[in-house]
Amino acid sequence: MTAAQPIEAELTAWRDTVRRFLADEVAPHYEKWEKAGILPRELYLKLGAAGLLCVDAPDEYGGSGAPLEFAFAIHEESARLGYMSLCSNMMMHSDIVAPYILHLGSEAQRRKYLPRMASGECFGALAMTEPGAGSDLQAIRTTATPDGDGWRLNGSKIFITNGQHCGVVIVAAKTDPKAGARGTSLFLVDADLPGFKRGRNLDKIGMHAADTSELFFDNVPLAPDSLLGRTGGGFGHLIDELPRERLMLAVAAVAHAEGALERTVEYVTTRKAFGAPVASFQNTRFELAKIKTDIEIHRAYYEKCRALYAQGKLGVTEAAIIKLATSEMEGRVVDACLQLFGGYGYMSEYPISRYWTDARIQRIYGGSNEIMKEVIARSLVGR
Ligand SMILES: Cc1cc2nc3c(=O)[nH]c(=O)nc-3n(C[C@H](O)[C@H](O)[C@H](O)COP(=O)(O)OP(=O)(O)OC[C@H]3O[C@@H](n4cnc5c(N)ncnc54)[C@H](O)[C@@H]3O)c2cc1C
Repeated sequence: MTAAQPIEAELTAWRDTVRRFLADEVAPHYEKWEKAGILPRELYLKLGAAGLLCVDAPDEYGGSGAPLEFAFAIHEESARLGYMSLCSNMMMHSDIVAPYILHLGSEAQRRKYLPRMASGECFGALAMTEPGAGSDLQAIRTTATPDGDGWRLNGSKIFITNGQHCGVVIVAAKTDPKAGARGTSLFLVDADLPGFKRGRNLDKIGMHAADTSELFFDNVPLAPDSLLGRTGGGFGHLIDELPRERLMLAVAAVAHAEGALERTVEYVTTRKAFGAPVASFQNTRFELAKIKTDIEIHRAYYEKCRALYAQGKLGVTEAAIIKLATSEMEGRVVDACLQLFGGYGYMSEYPISRYWTDARIQRIYGGSNEIMKEVIARSLVGR
């Protein structure tokens, strides 16, 4: 693959590769992983060996230098099939943590982490949220205090995706608690450092196999080269990376909704009531038509935002709009689809029930939808 404009045929072949991987390496085991509440460590190595991690990172850092569409295709295929746990873990690793390192890291930091991230040897996590600070990130209490040439990290984080398997975590910490928004910095923290402790893998209502953890830092020694980006630049860096993060959530939301519709069409055409397929009732037909329309309109706006991102023009407001709109649409669609399954839709053994539980988090993480509304309103009427 080249970094040039993707050729449709190449992208189609790539989607086939992704689907084959999912059919061979994921489908037979996914139920088991959902029950276990975690994906197996070996899966990451298999993903790396198949070239499915950090695909748009440049060759010299272990990626394929592929256009962004190839990275998006992986998430689309896994979300469409309902493998949202896998989708969220890979997205965090390849499309949030790796770009932070690529965009903000020194050459030494890129060379240290990215090739091992592309091979799956080292998995990445991003730790912002704390028990007392989620939407209001300025309220974080984790500190990195100067110690010799480096820092000492103290505090804790919660709800950290990939927390159980991660080898490196980008941690937001206060380097100057009195400096407000300018007092937060980002650090690359290796999970084998003394004082780094993983807490519980938290029990959730959905996305069971996507491990979500507490992390604790007890006087963790940070070397001078563990600072990512500028001292005090943490919030600025977060804002710069948000458009990609929110676009990623949107791609998963749209594909997840499309997958739910595909499964529902399959079901209503075979299930019978009153001697006729459920698909023959006018209510079913109208519901399906509404769902299809809802999805198509959101896909069109998503495609526009993706094109803007590719040109470096996706702003914070558009990114908030696409995250808000697509995650709300996803919630509506999976709920309407589940309804068409009747009681079977409420049974865990029917995948549509997982579409429903997995979709719920999309309105909360990546910045809650209330915060998205705030961001959009700010662009209209200020603070
Ligand atoms: C499964 C899962 C995975 C996650 N992964 C990660 C991760 O990898 N890394 C990470 O750092 N975090 C992660 N998070 C955390 C997630 O980003 C936060 O949960 C989210 O930002 C909301 O923060 P909070 O839970 O503290 O809710 P709060 O901030 O306490 O919000 C509670 C409610 O108040 C609303 N609210 C808050 N402020 C305002 C306001 N100004 N105006 C209007 N309404 C407001 C919120 O929208 C929400 O409805 C994850 C969470 C979950 C559940």
